[in-house]
Amino acid sequence: MNTVWLVIPCYNEKEVLPETSRQLKEIMEGLMEKGKISKESKIAFVNDGSKDTTWNIISQLHDENPIFAGINLAHNRGHQNALFAGLMTAKENSDAVISQDADFQDDVAAIEEFIDKFLEGKDIVYGVRSARETDTHFKRGTAHLFYKIMNAMGADTLEDHADYRLMSKRALEALSEYEEVNLFLRGIVPMIGFETDVVYYKRHERFAGESKYPLKKMLAFAVEGITSFSIKPIRIITALGFVLFSMSILLLVYFFVTWLVGYTVAGWTTIVLSVWGIGGLQLLALGVIGEYIGKTYMEVKARPRYKIERVLYREEKKNN
Ligand code: UDP
Ligand code: MG
Repeated sequence: MNTVWLVIPCYNEKEVLPETSRQLKEIMEGLMEKGKISKESKIAFVNDGSKDTTWNIISQLHDENPIFAGINLAHNRGHQNALFAGLMTAKENSDAVISQDADFQDDVAAIEEFIDKFLEGKDIVYGVRSARETDTHFKRGTAHLFYKIMNAMGADTLEDHADYRLMSKRALEALSEYEEVNLFLRGIVPMIGFETDVVYYKRHERFAGESKYPLKKMLAFAVEGITSFSIKPIRIITALGFVLFSMSILLLVYFFVTWLVGYTVAGWTTIVLSVWGIGGLQLLALGVIGEYIGKTYMEVKARPRYKIERVLYREEKKNN
């Protein structure tokens, strides 16, 4: 029978963990009884360097019941890296891994559907939100804009799919071969290939605690997504530069002709404006280039993505 691990990155989630663990345990035990997953299946919480008592709660859960596993990262490395650490640890001991958030925004009922699709032979199953009415207008709007820009820029992302997905062992093995440190899983996973499917679910409100993705982090995440997957921004800047340069040549010719004919030259406003315009564009272009150089710099350093401080995991069957 297939061993399935749930992997849940947690950052300061002490308010939600007791409830999350209770509900997930119920679901997993139900699936075990139905014979869909083996008794060795686990619910693994990855503690992403939380500042609150999250790790204590995880260790306590693990002590009480071996269905819970814990992975403690030595630092806060962000959601994507924490998730990656969890996936790589889980793949060693399982046939398939489902990744999820700690806050129950993603409907847990979809877990069974994920597993059914996996049993049908799918290697990657994406959870896609069928409705987003619980997100604020602002979050929904910005999220859609983000997917639009991402796809226009050439990164193949699935709209309304966050990191709620199932991956088989061999899909995870393929994922482990992607060595970039600037991690954007939603863009990488579709590049893996294999047979995929989609499960639709409703997204709920965060059950407790607050979002760990304030606007600042969301923007950083969006920039990360775009710049890690495409060099189109650089091409656009180059094209713009080309157009502006051609225009300035034409203007030069025009001014030369008007000078020959004897007209007075246009006022200083135009000149000042164009100086500012061009200056601004140059700064923008430099910024974009800087972004890529910065990325290259980070990748060249080849820093480790995460450091696991400790893994709590027991083989024996649950005893209660
Ligand atoms: N998270 C993490 N490390 C971080 C920030 C967030 O592991 O630095 C986890 C967090 O505990 C949650 C998931 O990532 O399980 C998604 O975060 P959140 O629910 O705050 O984001 P939102 O759903 O608001 O986008
Ligand atoms: Mg959330």
